[in-house]
Amino acid sequence: MEKLPEMFGTNVFGDSVMQKRLPHDTYKAFKRTLAQGESLTREIADVVASAMKDWAVEKGATHYTHWFQPMTGITAEKHDAFISPVGDGVIMEFSGKELIRGEPDASSFPSGGIRATFEARGYTAWDPTSYAFIKDATLCIPTAFCSYTGEALDKKTPLLRSMQALNAQAIRILKLFGNDAVKRVIPTVGAEQEYFLVDLDLFKRRPDLIYTGRTLFGAQPPKGQELDDHYFGVLKPRVSAFMKDLDLELWKLGVPAKTEHNEAAPAQHELAPIFTSANIATDHNQLTMEMMKKIASRHGMACLLSEKPFNGVNGSGKHNNWSMCTDTGVNLLEPGASPIENAQFLLFLTAVIRAVDEHQDLLRICAASAGNDHRLGGNEAPPAIISMFLGDELTGILSALEKEDEYSGIPKREMNIGVNFMPRFPSDNTDRNRTSPFAFTGNKFEFRMLGSSFSVAGPNTVLNTIVADVLEDFANELEKARNFTGALNTLIRDTIREHKRIIFNGNNYSREWVDEARERGLLDWPSSAEAIAHFTDEKNIRLFTRHGVYTEVEMKSRREIMLETYCKILRIEALTMLDMASRDIIPGILNYSAKLAGDASIKAQIGIDDSLERKLCARLSKLSSCVDEKSDSLRLAVESANEYTVLEEKAKFYRERVFAAMNELRECVDMAEPLVPAKLWPYPNYGSLLFSISD
Ligand code: ADP
Ligand code: MG
Repeated sequence: MEKLPEMFGTNVFGDSVMQKRLPHDTYKAFKRTLAQGESLTREIADVVASAMKDWAVEKGATHYTHWFQPMTGITAEKHDAFISPVGDGVIMEFSGKELIRGEPDASSFPSGGIRATFEARGYTAWDPTSYAFIKDATLCIPTAFCSYTGEALDKKTPLLRSMQALNAQAIRILKLFGNDAVKRVIPTVGAEQEYFLVDLDLFKRRPDLIYTGRTLFGAQPPKGQELDDHYFGVLKPRVSAFMKDLDLELWKLGVPAKTEHNEAAPAQHELAPIFTSANIATDHNQLTMEMMKKIASRHGMACLLSEKPFNGVNGSGKHNNWSMCTDTGVNLLEPGASPIENAQFLLFLTAVIRAVDEHQDLLRICAASAGNDHRLGGNEAPPAIISMFLGDELTGILSALEKEDEYSGIPKREMNIGVNFMPRFPSDNTDRNRTSPFAFTGNKFEFRMLGSSFSVAGPNTVLNTIVADVLEDFANELEKARNFTGALNTLIRDTIREHKRIIFNGNNYSREWVDEARERGLLDWPSSAEAIAHFTDEKNIRLFTRHGVYTEVEMKSRREIMLETYCKILRIEALTMLDMASRDIIPGILNYSAKLAGDASIKAQIGIDDSLERKLCARLSKLSSCVDEKSDSLRLAVESANEYTVLEEKAKFYRERVFAAMNELRECVDMAEPLVPAKLWPYPNYGSLLFSISD
């Protein structure tokens, strides 16, 4: 193998390549543009485009694509060859114009009513803050995607806008602390990705996995995850080979894949990268998910990114680690050594506390999806109730501050300077609670509610904006204060007082917490359908429009897309179940029942006891009728859902009625499955899927 450091990022048109390949003046002008957020001139774009093309062609690329992240949550690309006609031949060409702007047809992407088919023009605009890269002999240029009238049609644009909003407010705060050297504050993100691997041949025999990414039927196998023998277990050689290959491909793309391990459920695994700026982390996570699927199939496996591929064992989530970092390399959520640093840390910390408390709804909404409904509130993922874990020490300090009391953890002598007494504490001491949806883990927050298939763009857009909003308020208050330290103390104390209800260090999975949370007045929206509908509440429109993150039109369209997607996913799942039931499952049960009936009658003819065959046959007969009846109810429910014209009501109907009918159908089928010989059952069973990677 090539040396890792040399191989890392070889397929990325990153800073060092640019420095080498661009004329010095162009490189400097390009960097200036990035630093100051101004748009690029055509001249610079032409030079960059040509250098990019030469580099890509040397590496074997023949095509380029504007790579973007539409509202489908996955990435989109349309490949164009680099060729231009010359005489009777062609030359390879790529202009600044082609680099800066593309014009894909926007009508076939979800737009929530912004784009009608007859005015389908959409634009992709180069995002020079994300590096271009080569994938499948194609130069991929990260872009934002918007409509002809300028509305964002993608997940990336609002994320970039939210980063700007956060930057603007965080800089104001830093100035107040005399931090003038800092020019930019950037949110940092590390997204831990969970996934399942199953044998590809078995995967191909399950229509539910093919159409929906998760199993819709399946009786429980004798063994699941109860022995805890998979978590951090020794990697099977086939899985290990996959991970090595995956790391290699990701490293070439500049994705700093760092940690690979087995997760709690059989066949479940996780990958964690090293964190980077929020927009690049978003690109990286999209690439990671794409590569996982591709490389799995290269190894004869299928990678399942769905939130709940199997009932009865853990589902998959994505942990979004988030912090803020200055361009001078300081992590703003790192508790510092000196009192003044601590005051600054405490201010940023309390800003996040207030933001999370005030915007529980938005955090819940950005973790909402049909798939994630199977996790949130189940005993494996944080509940749908948002709360924050700070750990005992930090909570103790905040509570002492609030009460203007002494904090017993530190000597009294330091108390009289008020806020400036934050002690150093070992950062790895803080993360003892895995049940919290939003945990402080030493020098960053870990938002644990996201589903495994999510783009991290949405949740980080929310995080950046809600924190920016509080910081703005803090800055307004502190900038006008005559006594900065006094005002700071009061602000921190009042904030803790008003928002401490959101802090909970106990077990989030317990029943008591649900009751207590209700008493505390915390929000509890167990169903995504209910949560999503609140996206356009007036408070949220005010928040996002004020910070220039979404326009009202964009928000309405996004709400519509989320609700529509929710309904569509449940519809596809319901139809898949019906298809499987009528084509394979009922015929399968009937076949075996017929055999039993035949055997019984032969036995009866020759005077042998046929009671077992009769008993089994009767049981299966009942179950097949049940499957048939429950299929009819489900079909009816799906048809009734079509009658709803108000999306919000339709989504609610899907959640309450269609979903319930799906569960009832599943129950009958799962009862029948263990009664039928495995080789006569139409699909590979849970045991073989979950334990399919044996070597
Ligand atoms: P854990 O806390 O889950 O045991 P780590 O501390 O190693 O594990 O971090 C988990 C993830 O958090 C990694 O992807 C890591 O890169 C990321 N991370 C660490 N520091 C930061 C930070 N300052 N901002 C954002 N993400 C971070
Ligand atoms: Mg984690």
